[in-house]
Amino acid sequence: QANHSDPATATKCQTLDGTDIMLYGNVGLAADLDQVLHHGLAGVGLFRTEFLYLQSERRPDTESQRLLYEQMAARLGDLPLVIRTFDLGGDKLPPFLSQDENVDASSLSLRGLRFSLAEKDLLRSQLTAIVRVAQDADVKILFPMVIGGHDFSQAIAMVDEVVEECNAFKRPQIGAMIETPAALFCLDEILELADFIAIGTNDLTQYLLAADRELSAENDQVTAMHPAVLRAIHQIASAAKRWDCPVCVCGEEAGDPEFAELLIGLGIRELSVTSSRSEKLRTAIAKMDSTHASALALKAQDCRCPQEVRQLLRLATKNQM
Ligand code: PEP
Ligand code: MG
Repeated sequence: QANHSDPATATKCQTLDGTDIMLYGNVGLAADLDQVLHHGLAGVGLFRTEFLYLQSERRPDTESQRLLYEQMAARLGDLPLVIRTFDLGGDKLPPFLSQDENVDASSLSLRGLRFSLAEKDLLRSQLTAIVRVAQDADVKILFPMVIGGHDFSQAIAMVDEVVEECNAFKRPQIGAMIETPAALFCLDEILELADFIAIGTNDLTQYLLAADRELSAENDQVTAMHPAVLRAIHQIASAAKRWDCPVCVCGEEAGDPEFAELLIGLGIRELSVTSSRSEKLRTAIAKMDSTHASALALKAQDCRCPQEVRQLLRLATKNQM
């Protein structure tokens, strides 16, 4: 197996006209790292840590988390590891929490970061593990389901407390996931605080279209190709540019070459995808032209439904042949 754990040897991803695209991997379990390295990706753009504990009867302790993050960071070498804090709540409730009668399992109960802010001990323990590992590795913290400057600043304040408690010399970079409609209306206040942002198109689509994300497999209206979602991504990319803030798209559809062309057209230069989809994506990106993608993305935003967007893409491919 090739050793890609040095940024210089991670396989390059570039459009035909020479625009660099950073391709990262999404991981849910430590074992998924094999695939990230095997496919020569530029690091981990999204580590969904809650997956480690969804079956767990016991609360994870700080030390076991630290060890795991440390091992993963070591395998990645100089490549970045973006650790998303537990994205719990709703249907994602491990046994050690669902036995707690104070925790509400309904779909509109507290989710993501707000769940964590109500379960402070759990969050503090995870942040402690991350901050310790981040002292010697390129490890970043990503908070899920941020809804504005208020919850995000509370989370950042907790990182600062942990940094002080640990006598750490370095505060890791801190990012916010943009995946709720609220975050769209609070972009500037979030960007003022963020070192980077990550767009979660799975949840952004679900909440913008008021349709369960699981429906996307069977209903062609429930997709990030919906013009409302494309316009939202355009707004996010433009705001991030104004703040000179790196932005990555890490929802599942980022792995779809057609959607990725629209993302590139919307100004996105970082994608985090399921590793197994990266080869096809890299090959497709190598045939794309960023000016053509921009024109396409502009037109796609003027469509009225995902079918019109798909039609536009099909016509564009035909005209290029
Ligand atoms: C998303 O919502 O798009 C995302 C990347 O996070 P998750 O799929 O884990 O909710
Ligand atoms: Mg999400």
